[in-house]
Amino acid sequence: MADRFYVNCRLAPGPVELRGPEAHHLATVLRARPGDAVCLFNGDGAEYPAVVVEAGRNLVTLNVTGREEPPRELGYRLEVAAPLPKGDRGDFLIEKLTELGVSDFVPLRTQRSIVHPRDTRLDRLERAVIEASKQCGRNVLMRLGTLTVWDEYCRKKDHPHCRWLAHPGGEMALPVEGASGAGDRALAVGPEGGFTDDEVALARSAGWQVVGLGARILRVETAAIALVVRACSLR
Ligand code: SAH
Repeated sequence: MADRFYVNCRLAPGPVELRGPEAHHLATVLRARPGDAVCLFNGDGAEYPAVVVEAGRNLVTLNVTGREEPPRELGYRLEVAAPLPKGDRGDFLIEKLTELGVSDFVPLRTQRSIVHPRDTRLDRLERAVIEASKQCGRNVLMRLGTLTVWDEYCRKKDHPHCRWLAHPGGEMALPVEGASGAGDRALAVGPEGGFTDDEVALARSAGWQVVGLGARILRVETAAIALVVRACSLR
């Protein structure tokens, strides 16, 4: 795969200019030279092969030569809701969910969650989505939702039929009832302190299936990855 670059503008065959961090990365870090082949994407689902025409420190000019739509999405909507872990662990979670093809991430506020993403943090998380997409080949960016309270989130009417809540002691067997071929999936993971009994009961009454992930207590990010992998294994 040619080096991939994200640009925040419309793309089509023809000339395009890259500025800011992407231009810096291309010209200074990767030392791109006229004639080098790269691949541009803007999150519209396609990628655009391009050739470097001129590479300055703050401005790189390229010529887009085509438009391709390789199938790299899951084919259904997969939403993950979880309280965002602190610092680097939050970035790690976002990176891995992007790589795994998750379509939406919703930061949750639960009774026991501590960290709540501020606007500056969201910029950083958006950057993590872009970096992961560059690396893994995704041409659709994982959407980052706004902070949502669990009680409201779990009762939302527009959730898919298949909705799982990870909770230690939940059912271990691969839940298939009504989920096979169900299409879209919604998954929820609790904070380090866990969901409260009330929160789990509320989710059950709203139709969420309570899923166990083994006999050990996993970190939020590990639990999210394990749950996504399990959800993706349903056909
Ligand atoms: N002390 C908490 C554990 C929190 S771990 C408790 O006992 O509930 C953080 C979150 O990861 C949990 O809320 C749950 O959603 C998920 N998780 C961690 N380990 C899990 C397991 N073995 N099975 C299912 N979910 C798990």
